Amino acid sequence: MTSPTQKLASDLIGRQSVTPDDAGCQQILIERLEAIGFVCETMQFEDVTNLWARRGQERPLLAFAGHTDVVPPGPLEKWHSDPFVPEIRDGVMYGRGAADMKSSIAAMVTACERFVQKHPEHFGAIAFLITSDEEGKAENGTVKVIQALEARGEKIDWALIGEPSSHDHVGDVCKNGRRGSIGARLVIHGIQGHVAYPHKVDNPIHRAMPALHDLARHQWDQGNEFFPPTSMQISNINAGTGAHNVVPGHAEVLFNMLYSTEFEARHIQQTTRVILDKHELDYDIEWSISGYPFLTAEGELLNAARQAIKNVTGRNTDLQTTGGTSDGRFIAPTGAQVLELGPVNDSIHKINEHVDLQELEALSEIYQNMLELLLG
Ligand SMILES: [Zn+2]
Repeated sequence: MTSPTQKLASDLIGRQSVTPDDAGCQQILIERLEAIGFVCETMQFEDVTNLWARRGQERPLLAFAGHTDVVPPGPLEKWHSDPFVPEIRDGVMYGRGAADMKSSIAAMVTACERFVQKHPEHFGAIAFLITSDEEGKAENGTVKVIQALEARGEKIDWALIGEPSSHDHVGDVCKNGRRGSIGARLVIHGIQGHVAYPHKVDNPIHRAMPALHDLARHQWDQGNEFFPPTSMQISNINAGTGAHNVVPGHAEVLFNMLYSTEFEARHIQQTTRVILDKHELDYDIEWSISGYPFLTAEGELLNAARQAIKNVTGRNTDLQTTGGTSDGRFIAPTGAQVLELGPVNDSIHKINEHVDLQELEALSEIYQNMLELLLG
């Protein structure tokens, strides 16, 4: 028998909503949520469709957050079934977005449906913050909705993001924070010339190598109780004219750092400059900060998640902050407690992305249990 959560997840996966296209997913959510008393507001920013839906005017406000967009499926011939025609094999549903993260959105909606039926006059308020631009540039998605909410003084107390946080089984891992991410484009200048006249050139590749070596082996910090140590990775090096006999005029290097709450971005920028200056380079550097780190401390939201996961699965959850950035980076600065709890993440963005149907039911029960604990 098809459960309501499975049915809704399947309807959502059936829509080809590759970023930033919502492909009508949010309309399905609006119909379901309006039927149980949510007031729905579509916030369109350029080509991105966002949904803010709220039930109740009181606080505290628990907001379920997520995205209807998915990454492209990749080579179709490698999929065992059409990525946009969900198929069930051996109790597992396959399709793009099955884990990241249409199934969690479905689980959130059905959890609310059951909860509201039991508690039509619940405490506080419930909201949905859904975007169609999480996997892309994320410039017109959650960040803009949060700006609009802040501008009218609407505050989220607890944000529960359905990103696939679990490792082996649903609820075994939650994310109560994320590292910050900072990228740099470094251009090292030299003097171009003939390889046969080394005294007339200044080789930017030779100058870059020892400096990059120092940068790469620098110990930024030891991490802390919640964060792994800051990691720096060089992702691109470009230099050269293509000819064997020409020393290039400059070398370009791109690198990225995922950093913890031990640091502020400006400390990383300062230390990088100190290291580069030691090598007496002529250089320019441009930084782009794509997310600040955040950490949700002990409190009602973490407690409710722990308790709900224990109640439904019998498991003790592990709190982690690993992985890249998430839309939590836009919500946390408002002062909200932010937690990510969703399905197993081993197939996300891959060919044959999938979710286990029993685990999907458990996820919906966990969300309902959290609603009971926080607003029941
Ligand atoms: Zn996602």
